[in-house]
Amino acid sequence: MYTSFRGVIMDRIIFHIDVNSAYLSWEAAYRLQKQVNCIDLRTIPAVIGGDESKRHGIVLAKSIPAKKYSIQTGESLFSAREKCPSLTIVPPNYKLFMQCSNAMVAIFKEYFPLVERYSIDECFLDYTGMSHHFGSPIQFAHHIKNRIQKELGFTVNIGISTNKLLAKMASDFEKPNKIHTLFPHEIEEKMWPLPVRDLFMVGRSTNTKLLRLGIYTIGDLAKTDKTLLYSHFKSHGYLIHAYANGLDDSTVKPCSPKAKGIGNSTTISFDVTDSTTAKLILLSLTETVCMRLRDSKMTAKMVSISIKSHDFISLSHQMQLTEHTDITHNIYKAVCTLFDEAWNKTPIRHLGVRISSLTSNSNTQLSLLDFDKDNKYTALDESIDKIRLKYGNTAIIRASFLHSGINPLNGGMPEENYPIMSSLL
Ligand SMILES: [Mg+2]
Repeated sequence: MYTSFRGVIMDRIIFHIDVNSAYLSWEAAYRLQKQVNCIDLRTIPAVIGGDESKRHGIVLAKSIPAKKYSIQTGESLFSAREKCPSLTIVPPNYKLFMQCSNAMVAIFKEYFPLVERYSIDECFLDYTGMSHHFGSPIQFAHHIKNRIQKELGFTVNIGISTNKLLAKMASDFEKPNKIHTLFPHEIEEKMWPLPVRDLFMVGRSTNTKLLRLGIYTIGDLAKTDKTLLYSHFKSHGYLIHAYANGLDDSTVKPCSPKAKGIGNSTTISFDVTDSTTAKLILLSLTETVCMRLRDSKMTAKMVSISIKSHDFISLSHQMQLTEHTDITHNIYKAVCTLFDEAWNKTPIRHLGVRISSLTSNSNTQLSLLDFDKDNKYTALDESIDKIRLKYGNTAIIRASFLHSGINPLNGGMPEENYPIMSSLL
């Protein structure tokens, strides 16, 4: 609910905009822009993936024709090639992806001064009270969807509802290039029949446990006794019960230049007991935080992390960097150091990353290595590649939190990296 300045209680209107198979669409649109008559990657079996010659390569995003060969996001390029010998494999171009993402956000900013950039290809907008300016929510959704397609050459899904959770669920209905509503009165008809694994924050292990409890659909979960869920999943049980009932009161949180700090945290639906997994989750959080930092044209000097154990004991730890930065790699290095110093090996349920001591990047003295923005992004690309090489196949996690077309509502890890309620400013 939202209280207007006249004290009238009214429903909020929230949009969730999600690029359809982002990496593949962006690469396809870019190629068509460069060379009008080239083949549209979206119309042939094609994937975005790492280096095929190195054994680490995995599928980051796939075209619909590639899907027909049952090629899956996250599988090795080797096995994808076996399924479809004529498969076109294109390496990821993160610099291009950032440019496409920025171009889309720039369109939103023509209408909304404040946009929540949720991942590289997803944004939340608060449309509450905007109908007077831009027409009904559905009219505006069509307008913005068509503009993106016409001007930028790729398609999006738009979900509309009264909160972020329902808007996000709605944008995940039939794809591509579609607008869906999921208002509270539509929950029973549109959301409850779906398999419970489709609910945001229900990961693979939670899904398995729910099925064992005889909870098959989101509707089953919504009607399950909360105390039963608590006994199996602790507070995560309350969260997914609220989500199954369409409840979420988190607000759209744009990254405003006045922000004192930027943070992101996530509750994990299983116990993390090894530092490799923990660090991959921390990397996903760092990535989002740094993207928001760069988006707001700021740099940071203070880095802190928080760790909450399975028994809800939390601790935090922070350090000052030698100089202001907005480079993911540098901030992630500090995050890892902090984690190694602070973690006492108790199973982890919640992780957070926060950066503060922000200053406008025009005030930042550039170190010799930062000639310009391009060089910074190159550094970012390099760090992404290094991490991928280092972690090999588990880099699927790295790939997925950039939302490379992996459905965050399916599979083991990815959805935990899409915190709605817990992203902090
Ligand atoms: Mg997407």
